Amino acid sequence: MGPAMAAETATALKARRMAAGKKAAETKARMKREAIATAKAHHPTRLPELQPLQRARGCLVGGAVGDALGGPVEFLSLAAIRSRFGPQGVTKFEEAYGQVGAITDDTQMTFFTAEGLIRAIVRGRERGLSNFEGVTYYAYLRWLHTQGVPWDRIPQCSGELDGWLVGEKALHHRRAPGNTCLSSLAGPMGEPYQKLNNSKGCGGVMRAAPVGLIARSYGSAFHTGCQIAAITHGHPSGFLAAGYLAMLIAELMDGARLQDALDRTDAVLSQWREYEEVAEAVRRARRAAGSQRPTPENVERLGEGWVAEEALAIAIFCSLTADDFRSGVLAAVNHGGDSDSTGAITGNILGALWGYEAIPADLAQQVEAREIAETLARDLLELSAGNDRVQPRQIERYPGW
Ligand SMILES: [Mg+2]
Repeated sequence: MGPAMAAETATALKARRMAAGKKAAETKARMKREAIATAKAHHPTRLPELQPLQRARGCLVGGAVGDALGGPVEFLSLAAIRSRFGPQGVTKFEEAYGQVGAITDDTQMTFFTAEGLIRAIVRGRERGLSNFEGVTYYAYLRWLHTQGVPWDRIPQCSGELDGWLVGEKALHHRRAPGNTCLSSLAGPMGEPYQKLNNSKGCGGVMRAAPVGLIARSYGSAFHTGCQIAAITHGHPSGFLAAGYLAMLIAELMDGARLQDALDRTDAVLSQWREYEEVAEAVRRARRAAGSQRPTPENVERLGEGWVAEEALAIAIFCSLTADDFRSGVLAAVNHGGDSDSTGAITGNILGALWGYEAIPADLAQQVEAREIAETLARDLLELSAGNDRVQPRQIERYPGW
């Protein structure tokens, strides 16, 4: 090999090395891009390091935040929202019911769901005999009392007005409660497929999330979610949407990815009678999330959210397309429908998915009744774990009936 050839070989070698180096850098960059895209596509990322309490607090406080963001625009059209708050619509807490960050009936009833579940657990530990829906029915009667009905005018209740939650004066306000909830609680308790009424308003699904925080199995979460909604809502879509949300939350509590949780919950839904309407609403939401941005117009294509399957669908669409907690709940409230309920359900889902710390501090700190949400999240987890005898202080706070 002559010197010229050697020089050429050295040059070629250098060029090859440089090309290889460039290729490696390109491959690395591509892999990074793919990893980010995968994380986004698999959004939500699995976060196994999150503790159950972070998810439970996220679920209940997140729901309250979504509710309070939507409360001021619950009865406004999209055009009215834009003319009052600007082209972006609501971007922070606005005033409703005389204060900024006020929760509404959605959060109030969610709290009483949580209370009912805890009291059912206490009853089961004390007496060995209990069911969630029967005890939660009485919790809803305590909520009815907070709406201005004297306790002695609620004939189904022979017991005392006890437990700490009903003593929370912050909950004794009427914040546009649903007519179905008010009227059906004046009568006997409804059950799935018993046709108490034909309502499929979103009043069942909007309060069902706590069921998912304590579920022993996903199937039982679905079943119990249906039962506690059917106390007031007789149409299958009214209670099946609640069962759906309860199981979805139970899956997320265990760290499931949102898409996987939706797949499995879809499968359980299809085992129930008269499930097609809810299934179709969820299918439309999932399909839309694959190709559409969460603009108000796209949200409104899924409906208005006054009925259960539409409220669930809007929450699923806004959760799947959310870049973060704030953008998700804001998308869920800026439309012409039932903004506080769709905001609340979206907040429940994203809070359970990403945990309490994902809720921006300005929202978490300012929302009304945050301490109540946090207390209930902690007590739900504490009482549902293990089978120890309940302490006297727990019985006093959550009497077992
Ligand atoms: Mg409301």
